[in-house]
Formats: sequence, C-alpha cells, structure tokens
Amino acid sequence: MIVYGPVASWRLGKSLGIDLISVDKFCSFDCIYCQLGRTEHKTIERKIFVENSQVKKELDNIHEIEADVITFSGLGEPTLARNLGFSADYARKFGLPIAILTNSSLFSREDVMEDLLKIDWIVAKLDAPDKKIFEKINRPHEKIKFDEMIEGIKEVRKKAKKFSLQMMFVKENKKYAEEMADLAREIKPDDVQINTPLRKSPVPPLSKGEIFDVEEHFHGLNTINVYSSYPPKVKPIDYEEMKRRRPE
Ligand code: SF4
Repeated sequence: MIVYGPVASWRLGKSLGIDLISVDKFCSFDCIYCQLGRTEHKTIERKIFVENSQVKKELDNIHEIEADVITFSGLGEPTLARNLGFSADYARKFGLPIAILTNSSLFSREDVMEDLLKIDWIVAKLDAPDKKIFEKINRPHEKIKFDEMIEGIKEVRKKAKKFSLQMMFVKENKKYAEEMADLAREIKPDDVQINTPLRKSPVPPLSKGEIFDVEEHFHGLNTINVYSSYPPKVKPIDYEEMKRRRPE
C-alpha cells in the first residue's frame, strides 16, 4: 500500500500519508539520524516508483478519512517521484490541504518547482549552516551543492503558499544553532519546526533542556519544538503499513 496512517504528527496534526516511493528507501541524502536506516539507493534521478494507476486505485478506495492533512512522505525523498504533481492533483478529491515533507535537495530543478506549486504546505529540511556540517549530517548525493540548495529553498519559499523549515538538531549541529537561526531569518519561513530524533534513530536525541536552549536562538521567528508539542490521537487504516514508514 502507498497510503498509510493517519499518523499523529506533532507538527501537522492528523496526517494521512502518501508514499510515492514505497518499494524501498530511495533518497538523495543519507542522514546520520535517519529512522529508516542507511540509504542503499542514493539518487537524484526522478522516476516513477508507483504507477499512476496504483495511486488512483488506492486513493479511490478511501471513502472515509479522519485527517487534517494529506502528506507526501514515506520511504525516502518524495520529490524523487516524477508523478508527485499528478498525485497532488488527484489527492485534491479529499478536499483537504496537501503537504509535503521534503529534504529540499531538488528545489533548484524546474520540474520539481512545478510540482511543489501544486502543494499547499511545504515542510523543507535544513539541518546545517554550511557545506561542512551539511556533508557531515545529511551525507548528500555528490551532485547536491549546499549553496545551490539554499538558493532553491529561497525560491520555493517565495512561491509557496505555506512554508515551514524543519531542522533536526543532534550533537553534531547543536552548537551552530545561532548560525542556523540567522539562515532561517534570511529564508523567512512561516515557522521553524525544531526537532531531535525522539523516535528510533542511530543517534541519540538532544535533551529537553538542550532543545529549549536551541530554540532561544530563533527569537523573532515562529517556532515549535518536538518537546512542547503534543500529537493528536489517531486510528491508522493499517498499523503495519504505518510502522514501515515510522518505526517506533
Ligand atoms: S532525507 Fe529523510 S529519508 Fe532521506 S536520509 Fe534524511 S531523514 Fe532519511
């Protein structure tokens, strides 16, 4: 199945996930904290992982959903799916806002921008203030350049209806919170979601105190942090499908 959840998201509410990658983990990053494990298929090639006919069939099979938002996310980077735009158009039938959790790496591509403009709420990852920390934390595909990605983020921000920055803080970047806050001020997101890996992850999370210290650097910006937000109660359609994408 490519549809999973609804999941209880501390930042999105009740979120029905659509995973256009689904078959295996495909991503342009290999983040040190990734809950899905190492990236065996590190790629920047956009392709069809799940045929449009399957997307239509699964979405047509959903008759009642209790969700606040439909979210493109799942086993890897959703902008790698070439049918993201088609699927966003088709998901409009639910009459709910459509969001995407993305790692921002392909934002400078025109075809990706075109697809993103069909989406109401873009939640874009940024975990580093510079190339060195970016490479250490996100271990990107060799063709992804940090400065180009930042320019892409700024372009998408200008055009997006709603734009959030998601920042994951771990031991490796916590001392750069001030620089990351400065970068966030340049980007001017609607809000900044300050996260640390509380779910199963190869690296330990920062403590509540550390995350509150990080958040202080973001004064003047709207922020939410993972320790001070409470996810809603949800009833997933299929618990196993949800667990595949969100191990506990
Ligand atoms: S971008 Fe997301 S899916 Fe890809 S490696 Fe990082 S955390 Fe995992």
